[in-house]
Amino acid sequence: MKVLFVAGDPKPERWTVPIKALLPEADVHVWNPDGPAVDADYAIVWQPPAELFQRERQLKAVFNLGAGIDGLLAVPNLPADLPVVRLEDAGMSVQMAEYVLHQLLEASREMEKYREQQRQGVWKIHRPIKRSEWPVGVMGLGHIGKRVARTLADLDYQVNGWARSEHAVEGVTTWAGQDNLGEFLSATRVLVNTLPLTDETRNILDYDVFSQLQPGAVVINVGRGEHLVEEDLLKAMDDGQVARAALDVFRTEPLPAGHPFWQRPEITITPHISARTLRDATLAQITDKIRDHAHGKPISGVVDTNRGY
Ligand code: NAP
Repeated sequence: MKVLFVAGDPKPERWTVPIKALLPEADVHVWNPDGPAVDADYAIVWQPPAELFQRERQLKAVFNLGAGIDGLLAVPNLPADLPVVRLEDAGMSVQMAEYVLHQLLEASREMEKYREQQRQGVWKIHRPIKRSEWPVGVMGLGHIGKRVARTLADLDYQVNGWARSEHAVEGVTTWAGQDNLGEFLSATRVLVNTLPLTDETRNILDYDVFSQLQPGAVVINVGRGEHLVEEDLLKAMDDGQVARAALDVFRTEPLPAGHPFWQRPEITITPHISARTLRDATLAQITDKIRDHAHGKPISGVVDTNRGY
């Protein structure tokens, strides 16, 4: 079996050495933009070039080194019938739960206020948190959203969840579908986006959504930059609809110098680090699936390319 590694890592051996160790039966190649076809059976990719699918005509499946496959589905020449397999959790959901919890606590536990007091040498105790004032709403109840929702529910936050289809998550009130989005939003103050980027979800975080949230709203975006209508967030902040935001993903990454977000103290910016791809867990999952697929066994995580996730 031939496996082709296609990601712009200047040190591809960091990946190919463990792939060979985990999958000794495979012949492992690194993508060479100028080289001939290697007739790979499987490709492990991150943001591959369009030439990959022109050149490699024997592929049986392509494995994405991430959970979001919006970038891969946009690559020209991706054959419509080629199975695309996304990463399923692989250590990302716990990181995301930590990140969201941290951003929630910044708001609900008034950490900025205490940091400011420290700068001024002030010892002052504010009133304790009332959990009823901080209902959280998680958009997307997949591998990531469910873990985020459960983590916050375990800490006795009131948690709402919204997805395309019905879900039952212990301790979480759930809604499904566009028709019920309004009810979910009006029950929510802290909005957490963990949706995949699809034609249906692009630009979903807009002024209309922000204006339906409870007063003093907080927006945490860990999905994709294109979910957020940036000028609508700024307007919602100027109008007092949204009090603060934590943004990990942006329409343009790195966030350009001079972008208005840099100047807003109510916005916390992180450089797409809320859930990193962990090499060991990722390669263990992918190589297991390659072996199963090669033996004709069913594998999970195959993307429905029509649905877009
Ligand atoms: P997933 O398991 O596929 O879950 C996606 C969830 O979104 C599902 O619950 C799905 O509903 C829901 N959904 C999709 N389209 C919807 C729509 N139109 N309306 C309402 N709900 C919709 O994906 P995941 O593994 O949780 O990952 C989610 C996303 O997180 C990724 O696609 C990626 O963009 C992002 N991500 C970001 C980072 C980062 O570092 N910032 C890292 C990893 C992932 P159903 O359950 O009903 O199908």
